[in-house]
Amino acid sequence: MNRTALVADRRYMKHYAGRVHPERPERVAVMIEMAERLGRPDLKFYVPRDAARAELELCHRSDYVAAVEHTATLERANFDPDTHTSPDTWKTATLAAGGVLTAVEAVLAGEAHNAFAIVRPPGHHALANRAMGFCFFNNVAIAAAALIRNHGLARVLIVDWDVHHGNGTQEIFYESPQVLYMSTHQFPFYPGSGTLEEIGAGAGTGYTVNVPMPASFGDDEYLRAFDDLLMPIARQFKPEFILISSGFDCHYRDPLGGMRVTEAGFLAMTRRMKRLAAECCGGRMVAALEGGYDLKALADSGREVIEELGREADEPVALADNGDRVTPIVQRAQYFHQQFWKFD
Ligand SMILES: [Zn+2]
Repeated sequence: MNRTALVADRRYMKHYAGRVHPERPERVAVMIEMAERLGRPDLKFYVPRDAARAELELCHRSDYVAAVEHTATLERANFDPDTHTSPDTWKTATLAAGGVLTAVEAVLAGEAHNAFAIVRPPGHHALANRAMGFCFFNNVAIAAAALIRNHGLARVLIVDWDVHHGNGTQEIFYESPQVLYMSTHQFPFYPGSGTLEEIGAGAGTGYTVNVPMPASFGDDEYLRAFDDLLMPIARQFKPEFILISSGFDCHYRDPLGGMRVTEAGFLAMTRRMKRLAAECCGGRMVAALEGGYDLKALADSGREVIEELGREADEPVALADNGDRVTPIVQRAQYFHQQFWKFD
């Protein structure tokens, strides 16, 4: 059995984005209640720490960090039409960034093989100088930057299976060959970025991989994209640590997304990442909650991911034998990446 660290804290319920806002405190409550019911003896609960200001500033401009901090003195502030603060947002967002760092540190210290961080607000839309799409600080990007700049790692893989493109994460590492960013997402869709042609720039060219997919794609297409495109690239990259932006809004029940991923699909994607981690980096991986707005889908999918993290890495991976609808997209992605990566 793998030991899994689980970062969980009801203080993540304190950020309040507004009445009828889909990114609501209950998202964290259902995830924590699910995890407490698992009864896994090898699941170790961790209390998150706050991210230090210097850690936030690994990915964000200091004047932007100060602007978010200032909202603690305001009843409400609006960063964009979807992204609102309450007086506790600053503290909660700092704790969200710190929660992923807590998970990373538990794995680096060898206290756990892998980890899941149940955090909110989510992070992958947050830019260096801007909040957007329910996100304030880019939790996963900050963890990746900390792994490289504070812990001396050379290569970190970020896999983002949230239904939305993680434009913030992509932009932060767009010119870096040290962070390979791979995203599966609905397209065209919010936030509008994430085309096949976006492959990175400068020294980072080839280190951004997007799989934009039309609504209605599900497990078969996702797994085919992993098997034929993402896994081959990731194996050549040989990450020293794997981070997953684990949004559950590509689930078929999600009210915002239009994709059809099931619990079995999340399990199968997690198994692939776990296999990759076992091959490349001693199993070191951390998944962090991003989106996901149907409470039942969140709990059911989160359970599959957390249970799978606890299983041995040598469980068989059944390769996708369906999903032909994604093949033209995979082939075009391979075309854009053929200078940088080999495909069988
Ligand atoms: Zn999302």
